[in-house]
Amino acid sequence: MTLKNYVHGAFVPAWNGIVRPFYNPADNSQLGEVAESSLEDVDKAILAARVAFDEGPWPRTPAQERAARLFKLADLIESRAEEFAEMDTRNCGKPLRESRFDVSDAAACFRYYAGLATKPQGQTFEVGDPNIICQTVREPIGVCGQIIPWNFPLLMAAWKLAPGLAAGNCCILKPSELTPLSASLLFELIDEVGFPPGVVQLVYGLGSPIGARLAESPLVDKIAFTGGGDTGRKILAAAASNFKKVSLELGGKSPNIVFADSDHDHALEYALFAIFAGQGQVCSAGSRLLLERSLADSFLPRLAAAAEKIVVGPGMDDATEMGPLITRAHQKKVLNHIQSACCEGAELLTGGSAYNDHRSIGNYVQPTIFVGVKPSMRIVQEEIFGPVLTVQLFDTEDEAVHIANDTTYGLAAGVFTKDGAKAQRVIRRLRAGITWINTYHPTFNEAPWGGYKQSGMGRELGTYGYEAYTEVKQINQCINPQPLDWFRSAP
Ligand code: NAD
Repeated sequence: MTLKNYVHGAFVPAWNGIVRPFYNPADNSQLGEVAESSLEDVDKAILAARVAFDEGPWPRTPAQERAARLFKLADLIESRAEEFAEMDTRNCGKPLRESRFDVSDAAACFRYYAGLATKPQGQTFEVGDPNIICQTVREPIGVCGQIIPWNFPLLMAAWKLAPGLAAGNCCILKPSELTPLSASLLFELIDEVGFPPGVVQLVYGLGSPIGARLAESPLVDKIAFTGGGDTGRKILAAAASNFKKVSLELGGKSPNIVFADSDHDHALEYALFAIFAGQGQVCSAGSRLLLERSLADSFLPRLAAAAEKIVVGPGMDDATEMGPLITRAHQKKVLNHIQSACCEGAELLTGGSAYNDHRSIGNYVQPTIFVGVKPSMRIVQEEIFGPVLTVQLFDTEDEAVHIANDTTYGLAAGVFTKDGAKAQRVIRRLRAGITWINTYHPTFNEAPWGGYKQSGMGRELGTYGYEAYTEVKQINQCINPQPLDWFRSAP
C-alpha cells in the first residue's frame, strides 16, 4: 500500500517518487508506505490553492452549498466508521474504543461547522452619522496550511478542515509523517463528495521541509498548527514573513486537583482517565495530580492498585485499555524521563518500565506514578507525553492554586470537590484555557479549545474556531450622499 498526495483534485505520488514506510506501534510491523513529498509537491499544492481561492468558485459558493458538501462528508465518514477506527488504532496505537469515539467526534465536527456556515455572521453598528449604514461581514481568509500531529490523526484533520472549508477557505492538510493512514481514506471520501480542484488538498511529508514551507510561503494566508512548542515557535517565526494569521495548539502539563471533600471513587477513576487515556499522549492529559494531603494515605494505594490493573496491550484487542506509545524513539524518551526523575529523587509509586513479555515487540510503557516530587523537577515541569503521572500534595486552596499554575503551560485543568462555590473559585484562579469540574477530558465541538501561556495562541472549535478562519470586513454605506465641501477646489 502506497499512500498518495491529493493535489488539484487528483491522487498523485510524490514528484520524485520517494516514499517513506509507516508502522504499527503495537509490534513495529510496517503498515505501508506514504509519499515523501518534496518542495515541488507542496509548492504545486500551494499554487493550486491560491488559484482556487483567487479565481475559483469556492469562496463565493453559497454557504448552504458548502454546508451540503460537509454534511455529505460527515455521512460518508460514519458509513466507513469501523475502517477509520481500525486505521487509527493500527497506525497510532490507541485502543479501538478510543478510535471509535474519535471517528464519531470527527463526523460531528464536520456537521457542526456545516451547520454554523449558514448561521448569522455579521453585525450592524449604530454609528454617529445617520446617513451611514455600518456593518461587518465575515469572509474567508484565503489559503490555509494545516499541520497536525500523530495522536488524533482523523480527529485533528476534522478540527482543521471542517471550519476552514465551512468558512470558504482553501485548505492544505499536512498530517504527521508517522500517521498518514486515516487521512488517505478521508481524502477518498473528500474526492467522492467532490470539491472544486485546489480547494482541499493533502500533502504528506516531513515537518521540515513540507510543514515549514506552508509556514513560510507568501502565498499562504493562514497557518493552523497542532503539535509541540518548539515546532510552534519555528512556525510562528516563519509565519511572520507575510504576517500570516496563526493559530497554535501546543502542549500542556495540566493539573488535576482533588480536594478531600470530593467523591473519592469518582475522583480516582478520573485521575486515571485524565492521564492514561491515549497512553498519556494527549495534549490536555491530567499529568499532575494535586491531592489534598489528608487524602493521600487512603487515595494513593488505591490509585496505584487501579493503575496496575489497567490492561495494556495492542489497541486492536477488545480487552485492551491502554495501548503502546507511538514509536520506539518516543518510548525511549519517556523511559529516559522516568529514569531522570528517579535520579532527581522522585519516588516511584508504580510502573516505571517497558514490558519484558510478548509486548516487548511494541512500544509499551507501564502506567507510571511518581510521588515525593518537587516543583522544580523536570518530571513536574516538562511535558512527557506518555503514561506518567506525578502526585503533589497540598494543604490549602491557595497552595493548590499556586502549585497548579506553577508551570509554563496553561492548557487544561480539573477540580474535584463537592463544594460548588470552591470549585468555581479555584477554576477562576487557574491560568488554563480548558477546565473541568468533577470530570476530566470531555471535549465538545461546540466549545472553544486552546491554551493560556505557552500552550498556544487562539482557539479552535465552537464559534471561536470558525471565526479564526475568517477575516472581518467593515462596510460603510452612505444612504444620503451630500456634497462634502472639504476642498474648495473640488468641482
Ligand atoms: P511535532 O511538533 O513534532 O509535530 C507536529 C506536526 O508538525 C507534524 O505534522 C510535523 O511533521 C510538523 N512539523 C515538525 N517540524 C515542523 C516545522 N519545522 N515546520 C512545520 N511543521 C513541522 O509534534 P508531535 O510530536 O507530532 O505531537 C506531539 C505534540 O503535540 C505534543 O507536544 C502535544 O502536546 C501537542 N499536541 C497539542 C494539542 C492541542 O490541541 N493543544 C493536541 C495534540 C497534540
